[in-house]
Amino acid sequence: MTGTVTTLTARNADFAQHSFVPGASMMPALQTIVIGCVDPRVDPAHVLGLANGEALVIRNVGGRYTPAALQTMATLRLIAQAEGAGTGPGWNLIVLQHTDCGITRLGGHPGLLASTFGIEEADLPAKAVGDPRAAVAVDVAAIKDNPFLPAEFIVSGLVYDVRTGLVETVVAPSLLRASTAA
Ligand SMILES: [Zn+2]
Repeated sequence: MTGTVTTLTARNADFAQHSFVPGASMMPALQTIVIGCVDPRVDPAHVLGLANGEALVIRNVGGRYTPAALQTMATLRLIAQAEGAGTGPGWNLIVLQHTDCGITRLGGHPGLLASTFGIEEADLPAKAVGDPRAAVAVDVAAIKDNPFLPAEFIVSGLVYDVRTGLVETVVAPSLLRASTAA
């Protein structure tokens, strides 16, 4: 086990020597937030080619829009304000889910799933836990329904296929809310 840590700290020494860019901003260079899954196969840095400092990444089981993910986004907004940075036009919010997700193995734990989403067990079917294409659409719709999220955010929903390495744009990028909406 210590062998793994030794390997990783050696990789870090290589990173610090060859790849580290000093002075990078706390605010993401691509003005992008990704909500993704903790699955080791779907790290957005790898599958979307994100460079260090380009995006804020929130990871949970499933890459789902949950009360905890929302709280993290609200916290990030406060940090951005403290940094004197806006989170308005030009920002992207990407929901990245994937095939063969471990969350599909949790059918026997409806109480855990319901509590993760902050809903009643009876309402779990609406979260489409077994179908990433449906689930990513559910989550983008829920994000667009939240009046407290910035209207100018560009929201999209992607599904990564663990068999091919390819991402499918299931929900095309669009404004979180039309500015003229009532
Ligand atoms: Zn997953």
